[in-house]
Amino acid sequence: MMNPHRLLLCTDLDRTLIPNGDQAEHPVARRHFSEFCRLPEVVLVYVTGRHQSLVKQAIQRYALPEPDFAITDVGTQIYRIVDGEWLAMGLWGEEIASDWQGKSREQIQEYLSPMIELSLQEASKQNRFKLSYYLPVDADKERLNGGIEDCLRQKGVDASLVWSIDEPENIGLLDVLPRNATKLHGIQFLQRQLGYRQGEMIFAGDSGNDLPVLGSAIRSVLVANASAEVKRQAQQFAAQHGQSGSLYLATETNSRLGGNYAAGILQGIGYFAPEFRDRLKQLELSL
Ligand SMILES: [Mg+2]
Repeated sequence: MMNPHRLLLCTDLDRTLIPNGDQAEHPVARRHFSEFCRLPEVVLVYVTGRHQSLVKQAIQRYALPEPDFAITDVGTQIYRIVDGEWLAMGLWGEEIASDWQGKSREQIQEYLSPMIELSLQEASKQNRFKLSYYLPVDADKERLNGGIEDCLRQKGVDASLVWSIDEPENIGLLDVLPRNATKLHGIQFLQRQLGYRQGEMIFAGDSGNDLPVLGSAIRSVLVANASAEVKRQAQQFAAQHGQSGSLYLATETNSRLGGNYAAGILQGIGYFAPEFRDRLKQLELSL
């Protein structure tokens, strides 16, 4: 029988669904996840720092299910995927353009050129609304953050600064984005466009740029392979926003498949959405 419930399932890719961290992945976790996403009541959204071609590459390489939507480039692009075709949602560009007051990425890059710790990322990682830099992992982030914020405020640019670390490469990353071009606002935009209620959504993530969603009212799973530091930050962030009840930390011991990567996402679905528990159990038995 068709489940009367529906689910907008939003997940980060690297080290959340894609098992490219240090910890091991359960051998059937991803296959189980793909089967679950084939349920007609599940709409799948990838929410990632990757740009379109790198998402497609990951889908191939890791045998990931085709998503229905993709929020890429840390929230600056949103696509609807129809029969393998990626259609940019133009309305989203209009929503975020006003934050930069009509300034181009190149202009903002010019404003930030005195910051010598910042080195520009490759052209393929930049877009109209995403200015991305590398920086040393040991750079003084607090001082830099203050300096950049002051500089942009003086120019009337309303930007958000997203700091993260590429652990395999051991290098710091900074994305300068329109204030509203975040994973969280991207997800909320889709929620409005598609008409989903809060209780019909689940998000999964593992790191710094996922924290605004993990700490929001959206029901969120932090996969077990996340670092102790991110676990602490997510709990603190959720508590500060009065949203501890909508954050779930997957653990390695809470289910047969463990809690790393895809298994952690499934564990969170079982926790938040009891209406899908029977389906999850059936799928597990069939594998
Ligand atoms: Mg990640």
